[in-house]
Amino acid sequence: MDAGSCVITPPSRAFLPVAGTSQIFPVRRIYCVGRNYVAHVREMGGDESRDPPIFFQKPSDSIVPDGSSISYPPMTSKYHYELELVVAIKKGGRDIPVEDALDHIYGYGVGLDMTRRDVQMDLGKSGLPWEAGKAFDESCPCGPLHPVEQVGHISEGSIRLTVDGEVKQDSDLRLMIWKVPEIIANLSKYFMLQPGDIILTGTPAGVGAVVPGNELVGSIDKLGTLTVRISD
Ligand code: MN
Repeated sequence: MDAGSCVITPPSRAFLPVAGTSQIFPVRRIYCVGRNYVAHVREMGGDESRDPPIFFQKPSDSIVPDGSSISYPPMTSKYHYELELVVAIKKGGRDIPVEDALDHIYGYGVGLDMTRRDVQMDLGKSGLPWEAGKAFDESCPCGPLHPVEQVGHISEGSIRLTVDGEVKQDSDLRLMIWKVPEIIANLSKYFMLQPGDIILTGTPAGVGAVVPGNELVGSIDKLGTLTVRISD
């Protein structure tokens, strides 16, 4: 694309920093998995069957870097956090077999699937798409990525979120209903995965609302922390 032939200033491209380096991982799409920890399914009023994973997307420009202040969004009075393991894809594919899935991963990180819970629930009750509840501005704070060469593949370990120092989510990645290779296999049946895609793999129990002034700190074993503050 020649910027000189663009009729508007070209939008900037989303990226995630690579931890401990000056390198960046350009982001193409953000996929998210719904209902992937039993205790969270229960708290949302669902049943515990191993139904196929639910997928939705957020726009790539909803990414907010670690250390940011994010605005309390309009059109909600239940603005919820969901702390999630982020998987970054380096090699694309369709119908990726479970046994090959790990070869497609560049690295891992810590992310938040920020949600207008009231909007999501209202839309869900009416059988309508979740977009306005999930895919809005600044709805995807993400920490730096940790390459597989440095941290290995991540399938267990503590996942923990505090709000103003108080523990709100405290679980283990082992409790994911659909494991990362199964998520990649399933997702690639619906979408052609490409390098630059990232996947938020679902949240454990303990989701809740935040208000302006709150500080959220998410952490996952081996992947460091992600800190964001909510502003007016
Ligand atoms: Mn989520």
